[in-house]
Amino acid sequence: MSLLDKVFDAGLVGEGGAGFPTHIKLNCKVEYLLLNAAECEPLLHTDKYILRNFAGQILDALKETADLVEAGKVFIAVKAVNTEEIASIERAIAEKKSDARIFKLDNYYPAGDEQMLVYDITGRIVPPGQIPLKVGALVSNAATMLAIYDALSGKPLTHKFLTVAGRVKRPAVLRAPVGASFAECIAACGGAGIDGFNIIAGGPMMGGVYHGVEAENLPVTKVTSGILALPGEGNFIARNDAATVRQILSRAKSACIQCSFCTDLCPRRLIGHSLRPHRIMRKMAMMDFDKALEADDILREALICCGCGVCETFACPMALSPRQVNKYVKSRLKGERFEQKEALYPSPMRNYRKISPKKIMARMGLLEEYANWEENYIELAPKRVRIPCSQHIGAPAVPVVSAGDTVECGQLIAKAAEGKPSANVHASIPGRVVSADSVIVIEREA
Ligand code: SF4
Ligand code: SF4
Repeated sequence: MSLLDKVFDAGLVGEGGAGFPTHIKLNCKVEYLLLNAAECEPLLHTDKYILRNFAGQILDALKETADLVEAGKVFIAVKAVNTEEIASIERAIAEKKSDARIFKLDNYYPAGDEQMLVYDITGRIVPPGQIPLKVGALVSNAATMLAIYDALSGKPLTHKFLTVAGRVKRPAVLRAPVGASFAECIAACGGAGIDGFNIIAGGPMMGGVYHGVEAENLPVTKVTSGILALPGEGNFIARNDAATVRQILSRAKSACIQCSFCTDLCPRRLIGHSLRPHRIMRKMAMMDFDKALEADDILREALICCGCGVCETFACPMALSPRQVNKYVKSRLKGERFEQKEALYPSPMRNYRKISPKKIMARMGLLEEYANWEENYIELAPKRVRIPCSQHIGAPAVPVVSAGDTVECGQLIAKAAEGKPSANVHASIPGRVVSADSVIVIEREA
């Protein structure tokens, strides 16, 4: 069986982002294969754990993947400050006589944005709205590569390593079955030590924000890399979550001083993309949406915003949120594309405008959480899991089990939709199927 078939069977999706099915992504030929282990979201420690503990497996999977996509150059991108992780990879490279090379990244946010990564390593700029393949590169994150290693021996993706941190009593890297509830993950770490907390699914910069009471209904999925319990007030996330786009624009009418710091510090802008959030903000604050759209192409630039949040968390001196405005504009322009007319060239100021994660955490009021990390490791074994059939970009998988069936851990429970981008889904615990619709519920038998 080919590697692509094994990856398809194992139900792999990109674990570092929106969950694009891996068997489709790997069906290409490239010059560069880049392992993204930058882990640039400030409060997460999952990739670092994987690098320290599974460097050999990562190298084996990289070799197989490089052969498949015919990549002659293989790089493992890790921040230079992560010396323990670098030492672990160096030992594995020596042991396996691997051709993979380590690329030491600067400690800035968002070093792990794949377009930053490609530029930092290859010097090539991915055009706006395109993917790294356009410039001969394939980027995969550390967790996905470890899942490829498992898939090589026929093991499907059923468990996730994830960071549980913030104000939990005992922050940890957890190994949890897909479908475990966020509430159980937080409880396994001693619970949130605060009342009225927010939950962030992912990192503090780009993760989804939920209220603490929702934890019971949020399941770990194949793309969950972290769960953060953060105070529901007194920090940037809580304030920003409470503001609507209408409120932001209403404030921007008088408060946006058109300083253009949001544009000057925008990481995508700094590699040459034509994205000017200060101009989008001005148009949106001062003009009706349809008129602004007719006037020129400025609003369409929002389509190439990656949502990194540098503009709102660090750049804007007036506490406005260009990111949220861009997100709104994107939703209005769904299905449209942005074509850059100007030549692509990076800003000569880029190196001086890289922002350290610690500075961003200080601005966001999360320095205490940033410092509060002492690694523990926990294996979670819940009695019940709720596994969504859609954990990836594309069509949901189709259930192949029914209520009352008994399943083993690793058994196929939903098949990738035929002829569409989709991914298989497997049972993450052994037990009895309680219900099987868009979400498949399994309970361990006593
Ligand atoms: S979120 Fe802001 S800083 Fe990030 S890419 Fe979009 S406009 Fe640029
Ligand atoms: S940084 Fe803030 S105040 Fe300055 S132009 Fe951007 S949105 Fe306006």
